[in-house]
Amino acid sequence: MAIEVVSQEEIDEQNEYINKLSSLVAGKKYYLMTMGCQLNENDSEKLAGMMTKMGYIETSNIEDADLVVFNTCCVRENAENKILGHLGILKSIKKHRKDMIIALGGCMAQEPNMIEKFKKNHGQHINIIFGTHNMYKFPELLYKAVMENKKITDIWEIDGNIVEGLPIKRESDVKASVTIMNGCNNFCSYCIVPYVRGRERSRTVEAIIKEIKALADDGVKEVTLCGQNVNSYGKDLTPSVTFAELLTEVTKVDGILRVRFVSPHPKDFSDELINVIKENEKVCKVIHLPLQSGSSKILKVMNRKYTKENYLALVEKIKNKIPKATFSTDIIVGFPGETEEDFLDTIDVVEKVKFDSAYTYVYSPRVGTPAATMDNQIPEEIKTDRIGRLIEVVNKGLEEQNEKLVNTIQKVLVEGKSKTDENMLTGRTDGGKIVNFEGDCSLIGKMLELKIEEQRKWYLKGKLL
Ligand code: SF4
Repeated sequence: MAIEVVSQEEIDEQNEYINKLSSLVAGKKYYLMTMGCQLNENDSEKLAGMMTKMGYIETSNIEDADLVVFNTCCVRENAENKILGHLGILKSIKKHRKDMIIALGGCMAQEPNMIEKFKKNHGQHINIIFGTHNMYKFPELLYKAVMENKKITDIWEIDGNIVEGLPIKRESDVKASVTIMNGCNNFCSYCIVPYVRGRERSRTVEAIIKEIKALADDGVKEVTLCGQNVNSYGKDLTPSVTFAELLTEVTKVDGILRVRFVSPHPKDFSDELINVIKENEKVCKVIHLPLQSGSSKILKVMNRKYTKENYLALVEKIKNKIPKATFSTDIIVGFPGETEEDFLDTIDVVEKVKFDSAYTYVYSPRVGTPAATMDNQIPEEIKTDRIGRLIEVVNKGLEEQNEKLVNTIQKVLVEGKSKTDENMLTGRTDGGKIVNFEGDCSLIGKMLELKIEEQRKWYLKGKLL
């Protein structure tokens, strides 16, 4: 199946709307809230790019904004509560600020039940609702909302085409996320993503390399290749391309010093990919390998297509081939039917692998997914108990891993000033560990060797050599 790309004419049409809006909104302020994964963050950088090109200026104060944009995520229930809370606050602000425009986009907007909920409770305040497939049409929707003063809902149920060439406002000058594919074909039974992001669609190698070369020309040193399941990259291209082949091409871009990627699926982590990670110095040796559960029984019901034994064997294989490799992961506790024994299987995997970091979640049912209607849902108090116990084990492993780095020399890419201490700089090791150290701003963007002096659980303290 040939992958369709949005035509240049359509992109030009949106650029015309951007130009038309610039005379109307220049100098006005926008507030953008982003929830969820790195793909959503990358989409937000494009929304910010479009708004900046229109002449809007970013504000971090929502009450001050003329345009408020929520780029939502629907993977967890608390995101929904957060958005409803913000809309509640904006309701009273809009009483005095009738010209404030509120736009809601992203994954939640692709869920019919959520749209209904938003419209029922806040319909009179939300000006624009747009989906994940037509985000590139945001300038047109905004223009119509401004000029025609009407409420717009534009959600596409069909999978959107690949979009190239949108303006983009990057969060960092040193590192950047690059989306290499959209959608997912896996249908894990708890996950809403395949329903709201559609089937897998890969960007071409040429388009990705062009974007990364432009980033390198702008001084970016590190790129993270993002997709819901990067192992599937390129299967839909003609001729097909493997993710390992793409990764190899990316490492050839001059100026790029480091390459990371999220997320691979353990079920199809190929030997070819392991070899590329091993052989290529630029590819970071921290591997994000979502576990979700350590119980083979639960993994089967989750439709993950690997067992506890497969997962541990894969980790072992990677460790044997790449002794420096470290691992990060995602884990869900309290999935329907999870017994204490199943939970202990998860703890067992965590203790065996010793993850460098783990994103831990309590299962929350998402309407429209098979797991939401399973009748053996786990009571909240059990979920709370299990997440507490899991975090304890994860943190213990994390500190042990950190401890191993104390008194070693690590290569650190300096990303900027520390968020918690103005006088410190911050960067990351190859393994993704945050290192704070004293130094001046001229070091930002440089790859330095630092001696690690202390570990403080969430970060390391280093010293310039
Ligand atoms: S691989 Fe599974 S968890 Fe990941 S996006 Fe696809 S369906 Fe969701």
